[in-house]
Order: sequence, then C-alpha cells, then structure tokens
Amino acid sequence: MAALVFGWSRAAAQLDGQAYDWLFATSQTPGWQARSALLAIDEASLIEMGGARNLRQKLAEVLARVCAAKPLAVAVDLMLSTSEDPKVDAALAAAFAKCPSVVLGADIVRRDSQWEEPIEAFRKVAGALGHVHADPDPVSRRIPLEKAVAAKRYWALALEAFRLSKQAGPILETPEDLEVGITKIPASRATARSVYVNYVPVAIPQVSLKDVANKPESAMAFSGKVVFVGYTDQSAARDRLMTPMGNLMTGVEIHANLYETLQQGAFVTDAPVSLPVLLTLVAVAGAGLIFVFLSGSIAWFVAVGWLMVIHVVPRWLFWNQVFLGPSMLLTGVWLATIVSASFHYFVIRKQWKQSEADKSRYQQAIHFVTHEMKTPLTAIQGSSEIMSRYKLNEEKQKQFAQMIHSESKRLASMIQTFLDVERLAEGEMQLKQDVFALSAVLLSALDRARILSERKDMSMRVGAIPTGQIKGDKELLEYAFYNLLNNAVKYSPEGTGIECSCEIVDGMVRIAIRDQGMGMDAADLKRIFDRFYRSKRAEESGISGTGIGLSIVNEIVKQHEGRIDVQSEVGVGSVFTVILPFMAGAPVDSEIANANQRTITAS
Ligand code: ADP
Repeated sequence: MAALVFGWSRAAAQLDGQAYDWLFATSQTPGWQARSALLAIDEASLIEMGGARNLRQKLAEVLARVCAAKPLAVAVDLMLSTSEDPKVDAALAAAFAKCPSVVLGADIVRRDSQWEEPIEAFRKVAGALGHVHADPDPVSRRIPLEKAVAAKRYWALALEAFRLSKQAGPILETPEDLEVGITKIPASRATARSVYVNYVPVAIPQVSLKDVANKPESAMAFSGKVVFVGYTDQSAARDRLMTPMGNLMTGVEIHANLYETLQQGAFVTDAPVSLPVLLTLVAVAGAGLIFVFLSGSIAWFVAVGWLMVIHVVPRWLFWNQVFLGPSMLLTGVWLATIVSASFHYFVIRKQWKQSEADKSRYQQAIHFVTHEMKTPLTAIQGSSEIMSRYKLNEEKQKQFAQMIHSESKRLASMIQTFLDVERLAEGEMQLKQDVFALSAVLLSALDRARILSERKDMSMRVGAIPTGQIKGDKELLEYAFYNLLNNAVKYSPEGTGIECSCEIVDGMVRIAIRDQGMGMDAADLKRIFDRFYRSKRAEESGISGTGIGLSIVNEIVKQHEGRIDVQSEVGVGSVFTVILPFMAGAPVDSEIANANQRTITAS
C-alpha cells in the first residue's frame, strides 16, 4: 500500500523522470545516420550579416542554394509574424515558394494565449504551419505533437515536416494514435499526443548560414534531408532546454530530433497504468513468499536474486521500448523485502531463543531428577552393600530389606510425581478427581516436613484444620504442601518457627504457611513461580535448589482451580497462602477422624 501511495506521488513522478533519463542515456546506441540537418543561424552568421535585421534578406539568398540541393522539406523555426521591408519579404516568400515543402513555425503568445502566426505573404507559400513548443518539465523528454489554443490547433513543426517529406495526406487521428502515411505514431489523445523524443546519439549535422552564403557547395549537405532552420547562437536562441542526456539543446535541434524519432519509427511508450501496480504486487508477493518458504542463508540469497530480477524489469522493458516508472515497483520490492526479512529474522530469533530455553529447561530437569533421586539411591546402595558384605542376623537383614523396599518405593513415586507434574504442566494429564479430607493431605505433608524441621531445630505449629473436603488429586496436593513446607524450612535459619494455619473465606479454604526466614523482595515475588527461577539471596546462601518446585506447586494449585498468594519481607519472613475450593463440614470418614487425631498430637 505504501508503495502504491508513494508511486502515485509527485516525488515519485520526479524520480521516474530521472530514471527515464538514466535509462535513455544508457541505452543509446551509436552509429545513427541523421536524416535531417540544421541550417544554423549561429553567432558568426549574425555578426557577418550585421545583426538579425538582415536575416530575411540573407535567408532568401541561402534558401535558394539550399533548396537547389533538393532537400525533402524545410522547417523554419523563426518568428515571421511581422512585416518588414516589403521587397525583402517578397524575396523570402519567393525563396520559400521554390523550396519543396516548407513548414513555418507558429508560437503561442503566453500572455493572451494566442497563436502568433507568420504573415500572410509567407503563409501563402508554406506547405504547412507547425507549433514550435518543446514543453520542458524541466527536461524535454516528450513533446506534444498537438497544441491547441484559442480554438485553433497546430501539429508540431517536426510532425508536419515529416508528413510533407513523406508526401503523405492529412494526419489520421484515433484516440490512441496518429497515422501519417504508413507510419503509426503511438500518441494518445490522453497525453496531448505527446511522444518521447528519441534523441539521436550523435549531434545532428549543422551547416551555418554564413558557410552556405560563402561556400555554395556546402549546401549539398542538405541534399535528401529535412532541413531545420533556426537560431543556434547563445544569445538569440530563445530556448535552450535540458535533454535526458543532461545537456542543453536549442529548440530547433530538439525539433530536429523529434523528426528523427518519427522518421525512425522507434517510439518509446509508457507502460499501461495497471502494469506497475501489477508488477509491484507480484514483486511484493515474491519477496514475502521467499521468507515464508525459505530460511537461513538460502532465503537471503534468493531474496537478493529477486531484488536483482525486479531491478532489471524496467531496463528490460525499456529495451523493448516501454517505459515503466520504477519508483512504485522498487519501493514495493524493497519495503516488502525489508519487512519480511526483519519479520523472518525476529521469528527465527524467537524460535531459537525458545529452543535454547527448552534446552536449558531440559538440562535443569535432568539436574533436578538426579539431585532429588540421589538420596534414596544412596540409601539403597548402602543397604544392599552392607547386606552383601556382612553376615547379618535375620532381624537386621529384614530391616535393610525393608529400607531398600521403602526407598525404592519412594524413588518410584518420586519419578511418577515428576513425570506427572511435567505432563500436568504440558496440559497432557487429566487430574484425578477424588474427594478427600483437607486434613488428610495437609497432615501427611506436615509429617514429612517435620523430620526436616527437627534437623534444624525448628518448631512447627499447626492451627486447627477445618473439617471439610477437597476435590482433586491427593498426591499432587500433598506434594504441593510438602514443597511449601520444605522451602519454609530450607530458607529459614536454625531455631526459628514455622506456622501453618487455615481459615475459610467465601467457600474457599486459605492454608497459610508462615516462616521467619530470609524472605524475598518485590522483584523476586514477581518471578518465583517461573521455572528455574531462584532468588539471588537463595543462590548466594548456598542452599541447594533447582527453582522448579514453586512452578510445580503453582501449576498443581491452578489445576485445582485455586491460587497462591505470597507475602514476604526480606529478613523477616514469608507467608505462602494456598487458596482452594472447599466443601466445608462435609461428613467425615474414618480416615479424617484418624487424621484429626494426629492434628491434636501435632499441635
Ligand atoms: P528451589 O527451592 O529449588 O530453589 P523453588 O521453586 O521451590 O525452588 O523456589 C524458588 C525460589 O523462591 C527459591 O530459590 C527462593 O529464592 C524462593 N523461595 C521459595 N520459598 C521461599 C521461602 N519460604 N523463603 C524465601 N525464599 C523462598
């Protein structure tokens, strides 16, 4: 869209003009034989004549010689709109009358938008009148073949000269082109019948007026040519215009070049309006698709190739004489390439980062597994070694066998839990939907944590556990509570206390685990549920951990439609509150009675 909008802007039109100049200047082929010649009224001629006053007289003499050399036509780009000395005018008119086909110039007087035409005496003997406009913009790339002002129209001087030189009848007009004899000129009415001037690669031969006057044989240069008569000197030539080749040229020479263009029949035409739009769409789609279907260096390679192909399109079209303003196309393909390349780059980067994160997560998981499983494995190894090395009595043997049994069971359940939690996090596992007493799950977690707290000489106080039930996976919830308690012990100094209290608010049970440990700051609190996140304080304290526990706990609680609330202060302690849906006061089964019994013991 941006390319389309830009492509239709004024700035793009200017750039397109410059592109035309470049395309034109670089595709001119030398070796061109000019079919026209200039009869130049140059500085030397003017000096010799004693000024422009005496021009008509001199021109009458010179034209007689020129026309004796049998040119095809004579086009005169001079202002002949006023009468001067009647004798001189008559002489010039007579000279015109002897020439084969004379075209006289008509100009538009800008102010009142009127034609300034040659006087009757000259008009009478002229084969045709033609306009001498060059329409610079500011470069004279194209010339309108038709010019209409004040309800009167003239064809361009060069077109009339061409028509007369071909001895063709009137010019036939269709909306799209003009026909002169057998030559079809693609000059549509929509563009004021303008055509690109195909400037000849070498200068059009010039013979100065003075030379023809002094050396009659030099008039032979005009034999079989179309003669263009006009000023070429610096001061009198009123129009010196810029050409696509970047040099200044007089109006008469530009018209001579227009004649060469018509004569050559090689017309550069503008591409249809829809072509740049269509090509831009193709170029943009191509640039996009490259990055959709290809990746890595191949994508870059192909993209560069595609850019090059698109850049060649305007040049190739120009070789085939079609000019396509390249602004829209090139803006489109560059924008599309840049946008899709950066999009591609960032997506690939994201994927790469993701895979790096997965890799490190995997490594951490391995670390976690090996670390957590070391303890039961060591116990199993130790027990089995003792059993094989020493002769033990039956009771001892039984004790060790039991130890191996219970530790291997623990190992198995640990593996199971780990796998379950992994699958839970991936959303692959269906949660068990058992109904069980809150006290049952909480107390067994507390029992297991108590062993840890005793090792650090910590007190563990448990408030009253409300009777009621929870729906979900008992093992996973036990794992979650145990983890929170384990952290409370791990991240607290020896001799401090842990408190576990419950309350019911709005049908949810809030189980708070409060410690007097190192605490966390606000930045930590935002991230502790991220996988593998460990606070700096925890890392520096030397307390081992993997940073996976809380993420698992959070996942488990979420799966039970609950949430976790954390409050913490550095150096004071933390409170982790698990909030779960709760069926308060539901009938208590024997297990709960049993658990409650243990609550009393615990507190
Ligand atoms: P781990 O304990 O293995 O590092 P967790 O996921 O259980 O992993 O905890 C993540 C981080 O949260 C810990 O590293 C620690 O920085 C912080 N944290 C968790 N619980 C507590 C707590 N009770 N007191 C202070 N910091 C804690």
